Amino acid sequence: MRLSLALLVSLVAVLTVSPAWADEPDPCRLIEVPVLDCDSRVQRYVAAAGRVPAAHWRLVLAVGITAERNGKALDDFSILLPARPAPWTLWHEVGHIVSWQADGALIKRWMLDLWPLGKSTTEMVSDYANRTPSEDFAESYAAYLDGKLAACCTERVIWLAEHVFALADHPVVPTNRTPNTEPVVPPIRFNAAPHS
Ligand SMILES: [Zn+2]
Repeated sequence: MRLSLALLVSLVAVLTVSPAWADEPDPCRLIEVPVLDCDSRVQRYVAAAGRVPAAHWRLVLAVGITAERNGKALDDFSILLPARPAPWTLWHEVGHIVSWQADGALIKRWMLDLWPLGKSTTEMVSDYANRTPSEDFAESYAAYLDGKLAACCTERVIWLAEHVFALADHPVVPTNRTPNTEPVVPPIRFNAAPHS
């Protein structure tokens, strides 16, 4: 039987293009999020990214590798990470992106509740967190995902559980706090995902 040229061409196309046939992860995606330059080193972060609630991870526009030692969250909602994988850095940068949600209402509320008069009076997770309310948020977010926030910072773990993780359908850390009689903040709506 002779294969027609058209059939042959389409067979070759299916065999070379279809990623479903290959077991290898798509280097151009890290759990759905586009990878800048399809840099395969980003795949080193797959376990860390898997710990981020899907509702938060969807907010990240793209993820790439930087030559610098520290990560970065850019205002186009993409994140850059060091080549040597540091899960905390990924969580910290995603924390920045989460903190920008609700058109700034989330971080404003954080400042009001935890940085009254421009200063934090309660325990923080690291010295770096003490720099600004925004770094405090990102550090606390990372510590929450790392399971370390409850050990140091009761106010922050309660705040994030209520305002950030409960809304992302993420298991909420149990606390023995007596419930409020009135709502602390209006519900924060996460912005629509910037990528499909
Ligand atoms: Zn930061």
